[in-house]
Amino acid sequence: MARVSKVLIVGGGIGGLSLASGLRNRGLEVDLVEVKKEWTVYGVGIIQQFNVIRAMAQLGLVDRFLGAGFAFENVGLYSAEGSLLQLLPGVRAAGPEYPSNMGISRLTLHHVLSSAAVEKGTSIRLGLTVEHLAQDPDGVSVTFTDGSRGRYDLVVGADGLYSKVRAMVFGKELKPRFTGQGVFRHNFPRAPEIDHLASFYGRHHNAGLCPLSQDLMYLFVTSSEPGNPWMPEERLADIMRERLKEFGGLVGRLREQISDPRQVVYKPLEALFVSEPWYRGRVVLLGDAVHATTPHLGQGAGMAIEDAVVLSELLGEDAPVEALLSRYMQRRYERCRFIVESSLQIGDWEMQGASNADRTGIVRKMMDVTARPI
Ligand SMILES: Cc1cc2nc3c(=O)[nH]c(=O)nc-3n(C[C@H](O)[C@H](O)[C@H](O)COP(=O)(O)OP(=O)(O)OC[C@H]3O[C@@H](n4cnc5c(N)ncnc54)[C@H](O)[C@@H]3O)c2cc1C
Repeated sequence: MARVSKVLIVGGGIGGLSLASGLRNRGLEVDLVEVKKEWTVYGVGIIQQFNVIRAMAQLGLVDRFLGAGFAFENVGLYSAEGSLLQLLPGVRAAGPEYPSNMGISRLTLHHVLSSAAVEKGTSIRLGLTVEHLAQDPDGVSVTFTDGSRGRYDLVVGADGLYSKVRAMVFGKELKPRFTGQGVFRHNFPRAPEIDHLASFYGRHHNAGLCPLSQDLMYLFVTSSEPGNPWMPEERLADIMRERLKEFGGLVGRLREQISDPRQVVYKPLEALFVSEPWYRGRVVLLGDAVHATTPHLGQGAGMAIEDAVVLSELLGEDAPVEALLSRYMQRRYERCRFIVESSLQIGDWEMQGASNADRTGIVRKMMDVTARPI
């Protein structure tokens, strides 16, 4: 019998919701608090690779997940003009009957994960967070921002890049840093040839097109943004067009359709990697709260979901909490470090314009590492 029977998850994002399903699968009692009153997610897309499809199978969510996005096999690497340089075949890590990769809208992914967590019996409260945490050897007493209280065997901080749990328990000095780059994104009706992830290597910027459904795809471009400048909302379309100016082919044609700044989503890239251990007593962190990476390998959410799979497997076991959390570190630390460091390396190469950089080599290594069992 599991020694952890009641868990509080702080943060209802990709990692927190995945963990809620995983823990409910093992019969643990799960409360989840999400600070947003309106549980909104911005409406562009996300790439989920074979390790995520395998993780979704482990959480028992793979069919509804696959039904909600656009499955594909290969990743195409193209020149800025749109000529194919290389095709990287996908890996069917979840089994031969499942596809290698998926593109999915963030909004749809949120619906898949939140509806599963609710159906499985997670108690979710919105517009609420933790105010105070007091732990002793047997549990954690929590006071919430509405004055209510709870007692838990374990508290999981899944509250993202600016984690309050991290600040409260690990120290306020652990903060994300701006990496020097930003990403512009825009949805378009899916072009028939975008039936796989297409990555376009420019001299100064890198762009990509990813299918999200039969009807939808999204375009992204990463760019150097020295000093992390403020991007005036009304100029976002002009700026995104400018960042795409070196691209021809389909990307060039799409560029000319970018006119409404409200359709452009801009995000400065920030990263953080916290040294082990990722727990203090009975409070543990997962996802961006502890290893926030850039999107260059499309694995940030993948790592958060894998954290959730591993934690839910371990917390179902009959062993002291300290031993379980130590095994969580053994299974997660090096893999997440590899993803964060390799993603940052690619971003640095992009900023330096390093034409001889072995980006494809890193992508292949990432595929090799993430194909290994977690
Ligand atoms: C531009 C960009 C593109 C990306 N593309 C990809 C991709 O293609 N593939 C991929 O795998 N990853 C991608 N990522 C990374 C991915 O988005 C993150 O790694 C992932 O969202 C992390 O999940 P999380 O649950 O840890 O955090 P989040 O998804 O950020 O969730 C945190 C949740 O906690 C809530 N919260 C915050 N503070 C509190 C609080 N105090 N109390 C309660 N709740 C709180 C938030 O409202 C949110 O709901 C990308 C990231 C960026 C920036």
